[in-house]
Amino acid sequence: MSRILIEETPRKTGESVLVKGWVNSRRDHGKIIFIDLRDRTGLLQVVFTPADKETYETATRLRDEWVVEISGKVAERPAGMQNQDLPTGMIELQATSLHILAEAKTPPIPLETDGRDIDEELRLKYRYLDLRRARLQKNLKLRHKIILFLRNYLSEKGFTEVETPILTKGTPEGAREFLVPSRIYPGNFYVLPQSPQQFKQLLMVAGLERYFQIARCFRDEDQRGDRQPEFTQLDLEMSFVTQDDVLALGEELMTQMVRAVSPHKTILDTPWPRLSYKESIQKYGTDKPDLRKNKADPDELAFAWIVDFPMFEKTESGGLRAVHHPFTRPHPEDREKLAADPLSVRALAYDIVLNGFEIASGSIRIHEPDLQNQIFGILGLSQAEIGKRFGHMLEAFEYGAPPHGGMAPGIDRLVMILADEPNISEVIAFPKTGSAKDLMMGAPSEVGERQLKEAHIKPDV
Ligand code: ASP
Repeated sequence: MSRILIEETPRKTGESVLVKGWVNSRRDHGKIIFIDLRDRTGLLQVVFTPADKETYETATRLRDEWVVEISGKVAERPAGMQNQDLPTGMIELQATSLHILAEAKTPPIPLETDGRDIDEELRLKYRYLDLRRARLQKNLKLRHKIILFLRNYLSEKGFTEVETPILTKGTPEGAREFLVPSRIYPGNFYVLPQSPQQFKQLLMVAGLERYFQIARCFRDEDQRGDRQPEFTQLDLEMSFVTQDDVLALGEELMTQMVRAVSPHKTILDTPWPRLSYKESIQKYGTDKPDLRKNKADPDELAFAWIVDFPMFEKTESGGLRAVHHPFTRPHPEDREKLAADPLSVRALAYDIVLNGFEIASGSIRIHEPDLQNQIFGILGLSQAEIGKRFGHMLEAFEYGAPPHGGMAPGIDRLVMILADEPNISEVIAFPKTGSAKDLMMGAPSEVGERQLKEAHIKPDV
């Protein structure tokens, strides 16, 4: 007999079946043993009676989380014993054989609750158990559905998914970067990407025209609030587009995604309101306004575009930094002011905000070497530095770069909001703690002397 899934059992009344899974719970009623068996599709009540002595004897040993395979007959539950809350609540499996595939120690954390009141460190240390709870299984499945939708949607619109390097060179997105020492070139380092920004622009020079990637991004920042040192973006880029084209695609993509994966949620205003950065600050005191009418309603989604961000802001040391990133195109109406009054220049940069969270940033880019060079100059980079850090971009733009732009919605935050979760670690399979540790694997960790030597590292601690 081949295994069937628990979700199939209600259609098998009267038949003999084989099921496999974990003992979710066990209850003994007099001589009868009941277990709830769990597989990836649900729960099934299994009944063991002393009539079948050998099977029954084995069943008396069962404990929670043991892994078993059971065959038996699917039968309707006796009147009064049905459970309307369970898809399999009208039936049960009358066991005729039981094999124990693996025994289990008592889990160090309860798994039958939603887990919210359990210490975070314990949950993350035993994440492979924590993930057994129904809430987290549901979150991971929702995440999968969202990513699948995005892939299919963008493929249909002519986008190509391309993987870009993880071992690369720094790209300025405003955060500290993770460094990877090169063994072959002592004193040299790879940098983990804060985003695939430069690669996606170079893919536009390469003629891809429409690119996307479910991209892992790395930022070595002190953990403020709900952040992870690595996170996932839907990174996308398009050639021959205006800002309106990118906004239209972003809006349609999000709207269709909500319809497909969370149809019970309602999008408040369509088309989404568009606020300039200035308006948003003046009206709401923030560039991430929460525009929901009823903030207590978990199913209300208030999307908005924030546009016309300033191009530059002052740094602590009196210089200028790019508000979005240095590849962002200045607003055509403000081009004249670049040299004399850069702080008054607006950018063709935009964010998507949703219920008070920034869930995407993007911009139309610079594709002309002269303008890009001018912007680097305004940012205080010398010609030598520009050449060293961004020479490849300037050179690429000499070979026929199409006008282009794009954006990058954050997948973790999007899933978090659609899953009604309060933080992103609930929708990431193996997140780090608030202090950037992987407690399950024990990372970061010391490495052996030989490895350090090969990487040309002398620890100073
Ligand atoms: N690379 C940008 C970011 O990570 C997004 C973009 O401009 O497309 O915010």
